[in-house]
Amino acid sequence: MLRAHCPRHGRPVLLPTAYIDGIDNSERAIVVRWHCTCGESGSTRFPRRRPAI
Ligand SMILES: [Zn+2]
Repeated sequence: MLRAHCPRHGRPVLLPTAYIDGIDNSERAIVVRWHCTCGESGSTRFPRRRPAI
């Protein structure tokens, strides 16, 4: 399950993994692309923590 803020719902929604369209890994963040049960789509950024040395 993914918790995402849906602009069309106007509130956070919980989306099953089937609604996740893709995951982009970059150096600074993980971006999850999703679509909502209402048809809206969007993406949520999860900043990476710096690895402990
Ligand atoms: Zn929605």
